[in-house]
Amino acid sequence: MSTTEPEIHTFQAEVKQLLDIVIHSLYTDRDIFVRELVSNAADSLSKLRHLRLKGETLYDESLPAEINISTDDAAGTVTIQDYGVGLTHDELVENLGTIAKSGSKAFAAALREAKDNPADTLELIGQFGVGFYSAFMVAKEVRVYTRSWRSDGENLCWTSDGSGKYRIETTEDTQRRGAKIVLKLKDDAKEFAKEDRIKEILQRYSSFVPYPVNLNGKRVNTIEAIWTKSPSEVKKEAYAEFYKFQANAFDEPLQTFHFSADVPIEINALLFTPTQNIERFGFGRMEPGVALYCKKVLIDPHPRNLLPEWLRFLRGVIDSADLPLNISRESMQDSALVRKLSKVITGRFLKFLGDEARKNPDNFAKFYETFSIFLKEGATSDHEHREKIAPLLRYESSATEPGKTTSLKDYVERMGENQKEIYYLHAPKRSTIENGPYLEAFKARGLEVLYLFDPIDEFVMNHLGEFEGKKLVAADSADVALEEAPDAEGEPLPEEEAKALCGWLKERFGDRVESVEASRRLVGSPAAALNADRFMTASMRRVLKSMNQDTGAGPSVKLEINPRHALVKRLFALKNDDTDLAGAVADQLLDNSLMAAGLVEDPREMAGRLNTLLERLAGSAKS
Ligand code: ADP
Repeated sequence: MSTTEPEIHTFQAEVKQLLDIVIHSLYTDRDIFVRELVSNAADSLSKLRHLRLKGETLYDESLPAEINISTDDAAGTVTIQDYGVGLTHDELVENLGTIAKSGSKAFAAALREAKDNPADTLELIGQFGVGFYSAFMVAKEVRVYTRSWRSDGENLCWTSDGSGKYRIETTEDTQRRGAKIVLKLKDDAKEFAKEDRIKEILQRYSSFVPYPVNLNGKRVNTIEAIWTKSPSEVKKEAYAEFYKFQANAFDEPLQTFHFSADVPIEINALLFTPTQNIERFGFGRMEPGVALYCKKVLIDPHPRNLLPEWLRFLRGVIDSADLPLNISRESMQDSALVRKLSKVITGRFLKFLGDEARKNPDNFAKFYETFSIFLKEGATSDHEHREKIAPLLRYESSATEPGKTTSLKDYVERMGENQKEIYYLHAPKRSTIENGPYLEAFKARGLEVLYLFDPIDEFVMNHLGEFEGKKLVAADSADVALEEAPDAEGEPLPEEEAKALCGWLKERFGDRVESVEASRRLVGSPAAALNADRFMTASMRRVLKSMNQDTGAGPSVKLEINPRHALVKRLFALKNDDTDLAGAVADQLLDNSLMAAGLVEDPREMAGRLNTLLERLAGSAKS
């Protein structure tokens, strides 16, 4: 049948790996190939619809937007055919021979890791749309007959047995526009050539396919837009089934939010949060997953400009009868209507999360654990919704037990009358904060401090600036003015002497510190380095350094010393008696403070000095 010599191509290495896994270790739920191929056919029909709306000239213009499936028991084949966009020669190579998406290497690696756990593998396959290759679970040979919508397209046939190579040839058959995928079934998969078996699979989800699906010439689906129904009419199972279809997922939705509104615009929305955050696995950014419909007609399965970027983890459908049916991807960006839609839905979803936090705290905790990173991204990037996101944030604090969290609202309710600000400290873990020099001053004064474990949390605090009119302030910042601790113990160094010691230290440290002052905030620690730069915090420096960005000059810190601390009092005497030793002790005191602040960049310099100090200590112990 071929008119030209067939071209033999080799699959990209990642596809080969993938095929190997698909073929050899995915025997748990082979039914999914039907869903995958029908989804591809539906996507193709949606793409065609877009081209038509844009006024493109389409080859084979007047074909119905439908999906046809046929089974041939005698021949042992099943065929899935659509009148969609079809593929050109280059598209066949690009789309069926390579995994074009970024992160494909990471994906292949993750698949290898998940190999021993079929459930994980299936989930990954679903999340990453290796859909087409699922055909090789059941087929010993796959053929794709196709004709592109483009006027210069050819009649092509792509063939592969999944073993590493594929063939492309032109055919003389007059082909209709679109794609026809013929699966020659493996001996142990012949069941899929039976009409009843395919029908049973299609019945499970084809009502969600937004186009007619015909099996051996008979329509099998009535299109059911469950998002237009009233929530009381929809069963939990139907939501789950729709989620799986719409998100191409294998898990159950973690949260389901179904609502409608008439003002300011007419909306029917059905939103889901998945159970997994796949960005966590290192696969790069998720595609937005809330499809846009107008009166049950699919406008765009992945609209980029519909919802704020940080809501890209959501799956589901938004249907608005007020949208013009012919809205194009380009015009969506600057449509006032789309902006209004986005605002209403984001607001409603945030309100839903707030309700969930109250009514369903366990489920909300699960959501928060998995998706809070997106809320935080929103708090730092979405000026419009920042204030509504803030009440959803949760942190451990000096008032919570380890592992338990508080909201900012509850923090504010616990604040004493005289407390004007909300305090926080950042470190990777609770014990670092609790053993550091900063917390004690706040504890001694009965002031609660939020514990921030993630570097992004500091950005969040900086962007929020305040909560319910209370400023959010880093507890290690030099800006925090604290009253004298009520129960400060021990005689402090007299003021004159403390002043002299500070002067001596400042002279010794030079530019390494901005100032040295006797402090009333410290309780049990001899000294603390306070951040004098509100923005260039220790974690900000680390983040910038990890991106090879310039952090400017050294850290800008103010050193505070505790005039009641024995070491400080001793140092005052020592600086006159033994200047060398006093110098080494002072240097170490500064380094210890910087270390506690996370600001020591090269601790090796300390080693020599510490040895000298230890030698002196050992010497005095002997005498
Ligand atoms: P995904 O659908 O997630 O992109 P697939 O592996 O299922 O991944 O398909 C890869 C690509 O092949 C699709 O993105 C699409 O460009 C193309 N493709 C698959 N099936 C069809 C079809 N029926 N018609 C046109 N193009 C198709």
